[in-house]
Formats: sequence, C-alpha cells, structure tokens
Amino acid sequence: MKIGQIVQSSVPAIFKYCEETEPEEFARLQDPRYSKETFDINYPFCRQVAQIGAADRVRYWTREYVIHGVPVRVTSQWFNPPTSKSLPLLQRYLASKGLPADSHPETATSDALPPDVAIRAARGRYKGNAIGNAQNYLVRNILSRLGDEQFNALQWQAVVDAFGRACAYCGTEGELVMDHVVPINKQALGEHRLGNLVPSCRACNARKAEWDFREFLADDPIRIETIEAHMMSQGYEPIGDHAQLRAIIELAHQDVRNLADRYVAIINTVLTGKPEGTE
Ligand SMILES: [Zn+2]
Repeated sequence: MKIGQIVQSSVPAIFKYCEETEPEEFARLQDPRYSKETFDINYPFCRQVAQIGAADRVRYWTREYVIHGVPVRVTSQWFNPPTSKSLPLLQRYLASKGLPADSHPETATSDALPPDVAIRAARGRYKGNAIGNAQNYLVRNILSRLGDEQFNALQWQAVVDAFGRACAYCGTEGELVMDHVVPINKQALGEHRLGNLVPSCRACNARKAEWDFREFLADDPIRIETIEAHMMSQGYEPIGDHAQLRAIIELAHQDVRNLADRYVAIINTVLTGKPEGTE
C-alpha cells in the first residue's frame, strides 16, 4: 500500500480529532515547519482551499474537508520509504493522538508500533487491503477491453510524432511511455484507446498517477488544449459521466469482494463445521 493511500485513509480521523479534541492542532497542521518536523513532508499537511495558488494545486489532493467551517485540502507530497521517514512518523503521530492505525495495514511492518496496534493492522491487511487491489485490477481489466477499437504500433507512433516526440505534459524528449490521459480506474473510468493515450516521460507518468490530466496540468492551458484536441481527433469520448456505466463498474468492483466473502464463508464452514459467524 502506498503512503498516499495510508495518509488519505487517516485524514478523516485526524480532522475529527482536530474538531473534537484539540482545535489548535488544526492550526499546526497548516504550518510548514510543524509538518516537516512531524511528518517529514515539504508542504503543510493541509491548506485552506482559498490559499492554494495555481502553481501549488498539483501538490494537494482534490478532495476537500471542512474543519471548523474552513474548507481545506491535504498535501499529496508524501514519499515512501526509504526516500522519506514519513511513514513511521505518521504511525507515531497517529499513535500519539490515540487514533486508529488499523485502516492502513502496512503499518504492521513497523517495530515502533505498540503490539495491539500491529496485530489489528495485520488483521486489517488480510481483511481488506489485498481485495482492494483485486477489485482495482478487475476494473482496469474491464476498462481496457471495452469497445472494438484496435491500434497498432504505427498508429501509436503517429500520436508520438504529433506530440513532437516529446512528453505531452512537460515537453521532455527522450524515453517516452504510454500514459492514460483519463486514468483507468473506478473514479475516472478511462479506457485503453488511442484517443486516451499520450506520450509521457517516466517522471510525469509516475507523478501523474491517478490524476486527471486537467488537474495535473492546472497551470498549463496550452498543453491541456493540445491533449483535448488529440482526444477529439481520435473520437475519444470519456465515459466518466455515464451514470449507468458507472453503476455497472461499481457492481463489478463489489462483486470481487462478494466472491471472496463467499469463499471465505465456504472454507470457514468446512474448517469449523459451522456456518460463518456462529462461534
Ligand atoms: Zn514529462
């Protein structure tokens, strides 16, 4: 599990703590120095939406939280070990505030955790995390196979040429990979079609991750327009607004969990001789 996901799963508890237990903590979380010392991050943990400038927009997740009536966003600038110490620091922080760590299973690998937290975290891993990955893979698999469009290497090369054989996001030349403009996931519902693919350098490809290209390129309207022109020229129509398709993908996502639950129940019954839940 990536640290970004762990942070995001902890945010609601942290803000609830600010609202109900320690209001001053909310001010501290907006302080860059406190954020650096507490989490080893280079941006304030959160910032008021009104104070986030265009250049910094990509440093903050789009989700807004309202704390004491103030809308804020949380920084996305977290890095995994061994690059940064943020993960153990976050764990220590949660423990010091008495906040649950069991929604982020990888914390089980830390020696710094009290044993009961570690045990709950380990249990969490087998209950939830792995199935989340399986759910996402299924969605990705479905979205990448929709329609009957085929494209070959020559057609892809023509797209790379159209972008001047440079990264569609930053203009870097050199090694380029395919990047999905609209990410292939349950939220964005991007597809694996030529019109949704642009050449990208590896750095942009990694940084963009699950971002929508318009958010990722917030301060670069010319590149946004160029990519939109590419999508239109290939007849790519994003399906993200299609409520029925969204519901179907949600169903598929849920089905993976149901499938796992079904087999857990069957095997528990075999092992114990009793139906699940009747201990
Ligand atoms: Zn780039």
